[in-house]
Amino acid sequence: MGETAGTPEPQTGTRYKRVLLKVSGEALMGQRDYGLDPEVVGRVAREVKAVIELGVQVSLVIGGGNIFRGVKGAAGGMERASADYIGMLATVMNALSMQSALERMGVSTRVQSAIPMASVCEPYIRRRAIRHMEKGRVVIFAAGTGNPFFTTDTAAALRASEMGCDALLKGTQVDGVYTADPKKVKDATRYETLSYLEVLSKDLQVMDASAIALARENHIPILVFSIHTPGAFAEVMQGRGKYTIITEERE
Ligand code: UDP
Repeated sequence: MGETAGTPEPQTGTRYKRVLLKVSGEALMGQRDYGLDPEVVGRVAREVKAVIELGVQVSLVIGGGNIFRGVKGAAGGMERASADYIGMLATVMNALSMQSALERMGVSTRVQSAIPMASVCEPYIRRRAIRHMEKGRVVIFAAGTGNPFFTTDTAAALRASEMGCDALLKGTQVDGVYTADPKKVKDATRYETLSYLEVLSKDLQVMDASAIALARENHIPILVFSIHTPGAFAEVMQGRGKYTIITEERE
């Protein structure tokens, strides 16, 4: 991959050149029961901007669970594939909201959808996405993998692999992976490091199993951190702050 004139050079202290951040749709809901809280979307956009300013190339996958989840639709009697398509369309709405928040902050972005919708955004084209990132644009991958029976976690691991990302970031409600849900279990402790296999064998609910397997196969570390802690994304990129790193071996 060639460097281009104007490509932001990673500064010292930043160990990652290109990353993908996965944020669930629910993380953008704030205190609401449904949909988006523009204030929260703005806060997440600021986190992304801070990392772009470090010279790191950033791409995003945003879930759709704040609007629609296929499994729920199927449980209500809808055909699963149709329900999943609705879920994928929900991720496009979230992607467009995030694009608009980022552009209001002066961050150049492109939305690429796995389901082509020419008048709304670009179709997913791998080489073009890489080119955008090389130019310092944030690429938001919408519509998941484009296939029913998948999740946006898997889409995130897939796109991170295709883009040759150095890390897959998962921005969650808490600052890493815990032995139990820290909101329910008082003495739950946070893991500093985990191996992919431990995540799978302990059935830790970080990302779904196919996403973990894909990241493992492609040797992409997964860093889990709190998307709600101001400045956390940039800190994690510099190896600081609180997070859990999932790699091949426990360090
Ligand atoms: N979805 C899908 N294929 C994909 C990605 C997503 O069918 O590749 C559908 C699926 O129905 C899912 C919904 O889109 O429930 C929303 O995505 P997800 O549940 O992953 O969102 P998140 O939990 O991250 O907000």
